[in-house]
Amino acid sequence: MHTKYKFNPENKLVVLTGAGISAESGLKTFRDNNGLWENHNVEEVATPQGFRQNPKMVWRFYKDRYNQLKNVKPNPGHYALVDLENYLQDNFTLITQNVDGLHLVAGNKNVLEMHGSLRKSLCSKCNTYYDMESIDLDVPIPRCERCGGNLRPDVVWFGEIPYFLDEIELKLRSADFFMVVGTSGVVYPAAQFLQLAKIFGTNTIGINLAAPENVRLLDEFHRGKAGEILPQLVKLWTN
Ligand code: NAD
Ligand code: ZN
Repeated sequence: MHTKYKFNPENKLVVLTGAGISAESGLKTFRDNNGLWENHNVEEVATPQGFRQNPKMVWRFYKDRYNQLKNVKPNPGHYALVDLENYLQDNFTLITQNVDGLHLVAGNKNVLEMHGSLRKSLCSKCNTYYDMESIDLDVPIPRCERCGGNLRPDVVWFGEIPYFLDEIELKLRSADFFMVVGTSGVVYPAAQFLQLAKIFGTNTIGINLAAPENVRLLDEFHRGKAGEILPQLVKLWTN
């Protein structure tokens, strides 16, 4: 393992993670499965149109995803990012496209879940948020306690605007390092963050099983499993 970088606690680091970092926890990525998410067509389960057409089926899918999380644990890749946050403290920001919540379970604090979370839902009428564990999941379509509207999973679907975009841009502007882990680089706008980071003159680092589409934008690229590579790199960077 070789890296040209070393961090000191004053360095500002922004990390972006994708489905790849949770692969070693047993959660499937979907680019690696012909665009299928746990055998479901992404258009059916991850678009507003899909939800309008068949809300019961979409709810069944997300209840399954939520229940699946009860048997899933963070892996060494997640924990390496906790070590990194402990070292950099407030200079560490973690943006994730994942909806599994595993970064928070592992112990990271400064986490921006830009695509929402499987562990939450919200009212499609009045926007009230609910923890999944606090709502009745035995009914086909859970309802809002306040207004009776249909709840929906708090997951940002294709065609919807991710959370925290303004905050993310500000973070990228002031970052010294930007690192992407386990993301194919094809889902926008997250894929654009790397371009932005380059424009802002940030050092860019990538860790991925396969070379991502935008590998030319990476100053340093490590090919392999995040759970194996990240712990080694974090040791080298923070020693
Ligand atoms: P993706 O599925 O498009 O790409 C995953 C990338 O991770 C691939 O490039 C693959 O080569 C790489 N990879 C696979 N195993 C790896 C490992 N062990 N270590 C390092 N890299 C590995 O994922 P994406 O770019 O994050 O976009 C998919 C979208 O799907 C996201 O928006 C996300 O919301 C959603 N999604 C989330 C989860 C989750 O929360 N765990 C799972 C599936 C899909
Ligand atoms: Zn409501």
